[in-house]
Amino acid sequence: MKYLSELKTEDLAGKKVLLRVNLDVPFDEVTKKIGERFRIEAHRETVKYLLEAGAKILLVSHSSEVESFLPLVEEVGETLGEIVTLVPHNELSEVHKLFEAGPLLLLDNIRQDLREEENDEGLALSLSKGFDYYINDDFATCHRAHASIVAITKILPSYAGFLIKKEIEHLNVALEAPAEGKILVLGGAKISTKLPVIENFLNKCERILVGGALANNFFKAQGVKVGASVVDVTVPVPILFGVESIHADIVLPIDILVTDDRSGQGKNETKPPGNITDSQLIADIGPKSAQQFAEIIVGAKLVIWNGPMGLCEIEQFASGTKMVAEAVAKAEKSIIGGGDTIAATDALSLLSKFTFVSTGGGAMLEYLAGEELPGLVALGYNK
Ligand code: ADP
Ligand code: MG
Repeated sequence: MKYLSELKTEDLAGKKVLLRVNLDVPFDEVTKKIGERFRIEAHRETVKYLLEAGAKILLVSHSSEVESFLPLVEEVGETLGEIVTLVPHNELSEVHKLFEAGPLLLLDNIRQDLREEENDEGLALSLSKGFDYYINDDFATCHRAHASIVAITKILPSYAGFLIKKEIEHLNVALEAPAEGKILVLGGAKISTKLPVIENFLNKCERILVGGALANNFFKAQGVKVGASVVDVTVPVPILFGVESIHADIVLPIDILVTDDRSGQGKNETKPPGNITDSQLIADIGPKSAQQFAEIIVGAKLVIWNGPMGLCEIEQFASGTKMVAEAVAKAEKSIIGGGDTIAATDALSLLSKFTFVSTGGGAMLEYLAGEELPGLVALGYNK
């Protein structure tokens, strides 16, 4: 894999660069504001380096939130600290003329073109016209074999941006650090993406703390009643990763907060797991579990955390996530990631307290599960 740092000012001055970034951030339709700027800010270093070297940049990104980047483009510019000009798809062939207006352009949502998700060579070819380099700074989309991630690398000389380099370095620490003192904390709701991470970390860390809706799947597999809780019935927990009982590394909540109303307005009670009616659901880990998790986390050498411990968007169900977040922030080293995990810790003003915050949700989880990411393979990466 070639890194952007190999390109110096003399290689970049006056050159045109196609730069893949991640602008797939939450957007509030009412206030017309970006919900969280952290992941855009993460590209500043690469953008700045290229502009200072005298390169012209066409940013390429997708959004699953909005059809067009038009309402976001000004704030994207503010966040990057540069003026960004939006280019609609039908003006792509004019793009070189548009550079006369300024050195930083943004092609509108690449997924407007249906060929993007088909990894179509034709699209990659029309993107590449007149460009000298392709730089991928979008770690968070590297688990997708799409045209602006994979096909494009067959056409242009391709490099990994500073963000991808940083992501790989930190996630390799998560994978390779000795088991002693290494704690994995997993929660949230996207269960099928988290189980492979647990499998990959078994016997390679000291403890795996499981909360959120993810824990419900474990309870269910153990025959413990979960009432109306969120459970992903499509993913069976592989025999709890143990021979007959749960694997010794895995720690489940010892108490739970159950509710009859997930909006937070109903009756909420702390109970031992299993003590739940058919109409109640598990909304958070209980205070004893939060205390136990926090104690394990605070003393760790390295904590890797993804996924909230409960329905943390609702104040009444946010305590478990808050205690875990505060503990992770105090650990010697911490690596966290996941869209909702970032949003929750950002709301607690804790983001700056972690050693590394990954911009990759699904991509981070696949990397931590030991899988190969098509976008990295396309750049020539092998571990
Ligand atoms: P991340 O984006 O950090 O990877 P996920 O997307 O997997 O995390 O999960 C986040 C979501 O999980 C949040 O919206 C949260 O409300 C939800 N969640 C957490 N615990 C529960 C639970 N016990 N029941 C239902 N949803 C839960
Ligand atoms: Mg999420």
